[in-house]
Amino acid sequence: MKDGFGREIRYLRISVTELCNLRCRYCMPEEGVEKRCHEEMLTEEETVSAARAAVSLGVDKIRITGGEPLVKKNIISLCEKIGAIDGLRELCITTNGTLLPRLAEPLRKAGVKRVNLSLDTLDAEKYAYITRRGTLDLALKGLEAALEAGFDKVKINAVLIGGFNDDEVPALAELTRRYPVDVRFIELMPMEGNRDFGPDAFIPYTRVLEALPEAEPLGKEGGVAKLYRLPGALGSIGLISPLGDHFCGTCDRLRLLADGKLKPCLHAPAEYSIKGMTEEKMRETMASVILKKPRWHGVLNYENRSGAGRTMNEIGG
Ligand code: SAM
Ligand code: SF4
Repeated sequence: MKDGFGREIRYLRISVTELCNLRCRYCMPEEGVEKRCHEEMLTEEETVSAARAAVSLGVDKIRITGGEPLVKKNIISLCEKIGAIDGLRELCITTNGTLLPRLAEPLRKAGVKRVNLSLDTLDAEKYAYITRRGTLDLALKGLEAALEAGFDKVKINAVLIGGFNDDEVPALAELTRRYPVDVRFIELMPMEGNRDFGPDAFIPYTRVLEALPEAEPLGKEGGVAKLYRLPGALGSIGLISPLGDHFCGTCDRLRLLADGKLKPCLHAPAEYSIKGMTEEKMRETMASVILKKPRWHGVLNYENRSGAGRTMNEIGG
């Protein structure tokens, strides 16, 4: 269905857990998040009902995210049930990849078509620093497992951080020549929880192009990404610019959080609960929330921080 500004809402992102096995500095507090009581969170049946309700309203793509979705015990059965919904074109997942060596194959069998794997650096020390507790080796093994499992598409998400990985843009882009993967550079978003990053960390997507003079524009949009390709590469380079060039005008997304809150805009505080509702009531609520989707989230930069009121591990990116 269309929102109040004529945008067709086709894409639901479901954050299935706030918990994570990593603690990326731009996303989550070092101490993690307190495990909330079971009754506050959506059950598997409620999550599947919400997904069905969304599909009945015209959503045809669902992305499972988190927190780290692969730490959730029932992730395979959840994907199986959502993947089997009639009318759903694509079930995707975003993961830090560290658990993919065990789970890539079961996920593909459960109906997941595409995997986005987060990888901000190819330097083991920098990886340990930015994730506070991760090992690069495991993430790379996860990437290999994803490629071997035969998903329709594997993408790498790298958050672009001035003074941290801007010098690695060519090395990360080079992955598109070595593997059949797309690499997406995402501008760092200023959330309340990541005030440790100073203004120099927030660099515009144009810096990627400066570092890749040989990149050729593909002349088509890849969802919210501007697409380029290195000569001879197997995959594309995508630039996602929530700050430098926001894409609210074509935003087709709705978000559902693990505690049952629907969020019509990533950077706006408004949330509407569907916890405990029947599927029919969820559908009604979802339709009214789609109509409340704001036109845009207002200026977003180092000074004007996100109004989300949550950390990214709760929202799911
Ligand atoms: N744990 C999974 C992962 O890391 O891919 C899924 C959840 S994570 C919140 C989803 C995406 O949001 C990741 O690609 C992550 O890099 C990105 N992200 C988190 N905080 C961000 C921020 N402040 N700015 C830009 N992207 C961010
Ligand atoms: Fe965890 Fe993903 Fe957030 Fe990193 S970005 S802390 S892996 S939820």
